[in-house]
Amino acid sequence: MGRKRVTSGMRPTGGMHLGNLLGALENWVRLQDDYDCFFFIVDWHALTTPGGGTAVGYENVGDLRNRVREIAVDWIAAGLDPGKCSIFIQSHVPEVAELHLLFSMITPLGWLERNPAYRDMVQSYRIESPSYGLLGYPTLQAADILAYKGDYVPVGKDQEAHVNMTRDLGQRFNSLYGKKVFPITETLLTPVPRVPGLDGVDRKMSKSSGNYIAVSDSSEETVAKIRSMYTDPVKIRKDDPGHPDGCVVFAFHNIYNKPEASIVRGECENGGRGCVACKAQLAAAMNGALMPIREKRRELEGNPAVIGEILSAGALKAEKIAAETLREVRDAMNLPRRGDF
Ligand code: ATP
Ligand code: MG
Repeated sequence: MGRKRVTSGMRPTGGMHLGNLLGALENWVRLQDDYDCFFFIVDWHALTTPGGGTAVGYENVGDLRNRVREIAVDWIAAGLDPGKCSIFIQSHVPEVAELHLLFSMITPLGWLERNPAYRDMVQSYRIESPSYGLLGYPTLQAADILAYKGDYVPVGKDQEAHVNMTRDLGQRFNSLYGKKVFPITETLLTPVPRVPGLDGVDRKMSKSSGNYIAVSDSSEETVAKIRSMYTDPVKIRKDDPGHPDGCVVFAFHNIYNKPEASIVRGECENGGRGCVACKAQLAAAMNGALMPIREKRRELEGNPAVIGEILSAGALKAEKIAAETLREVRDAMNLPRRGDF
């Protein structure tokens, strides 16, 4: 028995942000020492939504290649080591598209229509006419994960329902064709599985919503974005008592200034802390924590050839594994092999 496999991806719709970092990537970095890891930039998934503004999507593909490269830079700067894990681009492994097609034959439409993430996406990205591809997002995700027979999938809370569907689809395949081709896939969450957006604690930070702080933002941009964060709307004057639980700034103090979070809470609730100072303190803590990643990013940006080599090597390794899986899948489904007749 080889090591267990870990698989996960990110959409190149925008820059990698704090939600992606805290909800997923920190787990990836931790897992790469002990598991066979496959991390992919899901360019096909980026095309399931229309995009617009700075967000890449099927109506806005001009920046797609740049975004793919930037995400690769983000990942390595944040600690992924290409010597320990395979990093590649989803569309460079065409076996995944074939598996998606075969899975689409056995994905009950009801599973897709009931998928809460589908409804959320249609609502939050204000998609007027959702595509066939968007409805099938989880089927493509299942193909991504199961082409490499992923045992564990480290993702944020918003993706949990998709991973459950991957597990169910794999098990449905195994039982329909009487072969144990796919493992029982499990989700792995981090201690911060849902990071809020700049615009409210009930909003998810998302690339496509533009409510994010990117790892690639400068310190100055970070300061400006923190100034724009949603705070308690009834705390108007500096010494008004505040309600930290509804405040995005407090949510981030709880992450980047954890040891002092209870002091921040107490001072805010007692009216002893103004929002301007509270935001400045957060900006200093956040910029301090992000500084090493940003420095590494700058180094990598100056060396694009290295990124190309890493992505090519990753695709080669991934394709081998996916090709083996697809042979098993075609056999289980009794599809004729070339030269059979
Ligand atoms: P998009 O808006 O284009 O869908 P996104 O910000 O949701 O972008 P994805 O590429 O869809 O990012 O997700 C990449 C990974 O980051 C997934 O594991 C997802 O669960 C996780 N993730 C995304 N947003 C958050 C968040 N706000 N908090 C925690 N995890 C998140
Ligand atoms: Mg998303």
